[in-house]
Amino acid sequence: MKIAVIGTGYVGLVTGTCLAESGNDVVCVDNNARKVETLNAGGIPIYEPGLEELVKQNRRDGRLSFTTDLAKAVRAARIVFIAVGTPQSDAGDADLSAVWAVSDAIGDALRDVPAGPPGSRIVVVKSTVPVGTNRGVVERLTAKGCGHVDAASNPEFLKEGAAINDFMKPDRVVVGVRRPEVAEVLRELYAPFLRTERPFLVMSPESSEMTKYAANAMLATKISFINEMANLCDRVGADINDVRKGMGHDQRIGFQFLFPGPGYGGSCFPKDVQAIIAMGRRTNLPLKLMESVDEVNVDQKQVLFGKMKYHFGSTLAGKTIAVWGLAFKPQTDDIREAPALALIDKLLDAGAKLRVHDPEAMPNVRAIYGDKLTYCDGPYGAIEGADALAIVTEWKAYQNPDFDMMKKLLAKPLIFDGRNIYDEKTMANLGYTYYAIGRGKKAY
Ligand code: NAD
Repeated sequence: MKIAVIGTGYVGLVTGTCLAESGNDVVCVDNNARKVETLNAGGIPIYEPGLEELVKQNRRDGRLSFTTDLAKAVRAARIVFIAVGTPQSDAGDADLSAVWAVSDAIGDALRDVPAGPPGSRIVVVKSTVPVGTNRGVVERLTAKGCGHVDAASNPEFLKEGAAINDFMKPDRVVVGVRRPEVAEVLRELYAPFLRTERPFLVMSPESSEMTKYAANAMLATKISFINEMANLCDRVGADINDVRKGMGHDQRIGFQFLFPGPGYGGSCFPKDVQAIIAMGRRTNLPLKLMESVDEVNVDQKQVLFGKMKYHFGSTLAGKTIAVWGLAFKPQTDDIREAPALALIDKLLDAGAKLRVHDPEAMPNVRAIYGDKLTYCDGPYGAIEGADALAIVTEWKAYQNPDFDMMKKLLAKPLIFDGRNIYDEKTMANLGYTYYAIGRGKKAY
């Protein structure tokens, strides 16, 4: 099938590439000319494991190309995906300006194209958008004389860091349509990815749009829940790691998304929780649980700093702190809403000096902080002479380090572990002072 994907970011580039990989003819469009230039020169503007090879191969095979020419790509396509960003607006709601701009541009491009039978032209909104957006897209297309063009909702559930695998082997595909013919076209498109009997769920666009927010709201809730339990563990002398296991083996609960940490970040959970709260507000239904989930998370981003303040007291100024892990999670270079940035801001405010390391995200962090931080090539370089190490993102490279060597490099054997990746007893035996999250140690 001929496909255009508008917006070539984490979602659009993965979507376009995976659809090309399954034999479709895909043109990815972006209004960021530099991004398109990079892609056309064989580069990849983001870090996502496995993506570079797949892009290269599909470009070579002639199934994948990149352009800034939206109108040309849209006119040639049977299916047009909208995968532009929907960041948080100042009011907390999703900022849909890019979605509306692209919808209008699609309408302009298709205005003179003769209408075909149902399902012959489909605009699919893949961006995460509030309920009612699909209707808005239809209204905009109709206003441009494109009432014959179908609009579907097809939220994306991929995780950065495992995006290719998630797209290729989704737990489910959700589509929201108004006509069965449209669902059938999308079913055909997704069939290669659903060979293992994964469900293709057809519903109304409203339910489909809501599904994405409900799913992210649930995941964010689990994280804030376990973080709150962890903080209580610290106060009552329990160990969240044991508690987590004791809970998780209950099959009604399970283990997924029950790891305490320094708060959730990334380009989805924080803004999607805000957007669902805004949806509630618009309909006069205060979403009290969601408001608390957000509040707990905002506080959780300060927990690691709180432990440092507890340890150092007023002597934090002038101390050198090493930070391992800047991306909001491992296997990505994405630092949007990353907990590491909240910690860095607090430490800079307190007058600390920072030596930072991340395998992939340092260029993005440097673009924000410039020479306020010392960027180190390797994790061991970062801890040289540091008064303490803070671990914020659990990259594999940090999980089994040489603790003896670290002891020699650090000015003091002191670790604040925001991801609970080390064993407390081992650390104590090695002579480290070790603070983690919810392990029953007083640090508040
Ligand atoms: P992103 O910021 O990485 O990419 C968006 C791209 O759209 C950018 O390259 C930008 O230049 C381009 N763009 C913006 N306006 C444009 C326009 N008018 N014309 C053409 N291109 C335009 O965003 P993302 O992380 O890929 O997220 C996209 C959507 O998918 C969001 O709604 C997000 O909530 C949702 N989503 C993201 C993830 C994720 O893990 N990142 C997962 C599921 C869903």
